[in-house]
Amino acid sequence: MKAADFRHVIVLTGAGISASAGIRTFRGPGGLWTDPELAALSHHDAMVAKREAVCAMYWQRRRGLAKVAPTVAHRALAAFEAARPTGTTFTLVTQNVDGLHRAAGNRDVVEYHGSLARWRCDACPHTEEPPDGEAPPVHCGVVMRPEIVMFGEGIPPAAEHAVKRALRDCDLFVAIGTSGTVSPASGFVRAARYAGAKTVLLNLEAFDEARELFDDVRLGPSDERVPALFA
Ligand SMILES: [Zn+2]
Repeated sequence: MKAADFRHVIVLTGAGISASAGIRTFRGPGGLWTDPELAALSHHDAMVAKREAVCAMYWQRRRGLAKVAPTVAHRALAAFEAARPTGTTFTLVTQNVDGLHRAAGNRDVVEYHGSLARWRCDACPHTEEPPDGEAPPVHCGVVMRPEIVMFGEGIPPAAEHAVKRALRDCDLFVAIGTSGTVSPASGFVRAARYAGAKTVLLNLEAFDEARELFDDVRLGPSDERVPALFA
């Protein structure tokens, strides 16, 4: 089976696709949120109470990402999008805020949890992709914040709408680098099945629940599994 055999393909990527790039994940073993001090800064309440510290933490993380290159798996998905024939669709949804899909060349990316590349002012509607610097940018006299979804914040309506529409029409759904058993992946796979799509999970490991949710589970590093399916 090849992804190219399907007309309407939707892919959801999670932290696993960026693992070989050397990015420390937020959740999971060794993830940033297992550090209680950092975890406390990941909630919306912290953005309200200690805005400067929270924005500075994300700014340092963004600076670190500038030195990271997309993986083999990211590049395989970019090549897949570029080769899609007329009349087919490809919707790439990511939970990652690292911007690596766009860096790899994917043009149409639904950043479900936002991106550390974009920063916004909370005093006016201004957003930008700021250049590198020692400290986070300031606008209207207030430090800007990353346009990411923190714990306690909602998914951007435009992203949610794009995903719902794609899931309704898809004939192939692939989850990559995520367990597949927690939201949003678990909800996406159920919606894709309801639409009659074939569902595939590419991940390092799989729980029994994932084997029940997905038609096809392929274990292994995404740098091997993704190019094989999206060649
Ligand atoms: Zn402003």
